[in-house]
Amino acid sequence: MKFSILTIFPDMFAGFFEHGIIRRAIERELIHTDILDIRDHAAGRHRVTDDRPFGGGDGMVMKPDPLAGAIRKAADRDPDAVIVHLTPQGRVFDQKTARALSEKAHLVLICGRYEGIDERICETQVDYELSIGDFVLTGGELAAMVVVDAVTRLLPGALGGDTSAETDSFADQLLAHAQYTRPRVFEDQAVPDVLLSGNHREIEIWRRKSALIRTLLKRPDLLEGYSLTQEELDLCRQWQNRLNRLIENQGDKR
Ligand code: SAM
Repeated sequence: MKFSILTIFPDMFAGFFEHGIIRRAIERELIHTDILDIRDHAAGRHRVTDDRPFGGGDGMVMKPDPLAGAIRKAADRDPDAVIVHLTPQGRVFDQKTARALSEKAHLVLICGRYEGIDERICETQVDYELSIGDFVLTGGELAAMVVVDAVTRLLPGALGGDTSAETDSFADQLLAHAQYTRPRVFEDQAVPDVLLSGNHREIEIWRRKSALIRTLLKRPDLLEGYSLTQEELDLCRQWQNRLNRLIENQGDKR
């Protein structure tokens, strides 16, 4: 899979590409990255990429011509190139979108700066507008890194084992189960016994339980429309009975 990133700050990506799973994905040629400096497509000695907004007002706007040149170079008549504009006004990026994008062959990510990019680019050249959340960053570079990171870890072989991404949060509407590592006892808190039992079936049941209760407590919205397995339904009934007993034992408190 190829990522072409259009930015006026190409150096920001150096560290990002040099560590962990992203670095390994590059080394194994699971992903190819191409950073294009938008300034290289700006005319004139000063290679200006921004200008004042028509109609007045604060800030600067990224000029359309350098962006169009950079998009043309990045897509390079590639019929598979999908042009993505990172903007707080886009659809909010989530795991489902990451999965859909991981099936594309070539993503061209446009990083805006200042007050954003000239609207004519959005209207004529962009396939998707993506936001990484309802807040405003100073530039699209961090958003592009978020997209590259989330999409890359979904590529087969990127995590060094085909199943790892399947047990991540959101893979099946549930958050991931709780995790523990050595030492067995940390500040008087012991790891749940079952995880040390070696009983794989019991561990699997415990993990399922942990995932369900965490989702229920932390992100109940994820469970809307969720279809419980028979095992999960039995668990919910057990919790319901315990809660009912607890409530009944509270006497006439309101
Ligand atoms: N004036 C714009 C607005 O209010 O919609 C915000 C511009 S922002 C200061 C500059 C650039 O940062 C944007 O062009 C975009 O590329 C990027 N950016 C900011 N917030 C973002 C977000 N939540 N998701 C993705 N990109 C974002």
